[in-house]
Amino acid sequence: MSELNELYQDTILEHNKNPRNFRDIEDADKTADGRNPLCGDALRVYLKMDNDVVSDVAFKGSGCAISKASASMMTQAVKGKNREEAEQLFDEFHKMVTGELDIEAEDNHLGKLRVFAGVLEFPARVKCASLSWHTFHAALNDEAEISTE
Ligand code: ZN
Repeated sequence: MSELNELYQDTILEHNKNPRNFRDIEDADKTADGRNPLCGDALRVYLKMDNDVVSDVAFKGSGCAISKASASMMTQAVKGKNREEAEQLFDEFHKMVTGELDIEAEDNHLGKLRVFAGVLEFPARVKCASLSWHTFHAALNDEAEISTE
């Protein structure tokens, strides 16, 4: 494994151990439940909206290290973003993990989220990495639940 991959793995393990925004939001404006039956990941995403801006975002649930770390970093990435910016990140993340976006060659706003580019090599893990993003997208669009199957 290359040093770069080890660095990426450390980031994922660290977020799994200490997930950010791992809580519920009692007066959430939007929530959605996401399930990845293939791996057993299940999480709920909570959103607090200030007009068009995601003013707070949190998640709860259980799952593998990749799904939890991805949810943790998703909350950090979309907090404070407006709907359009957040949807663009969702789109870019989805394209990165499915191989439709070349993060080195094409413009993107993924930043730290690039640590998940490696899941492309592990098809079973793509759904783990993208679950929190699909669930966030569902909440934002007032869909109560999603399943990756
Ligand atoms: Zn998983």
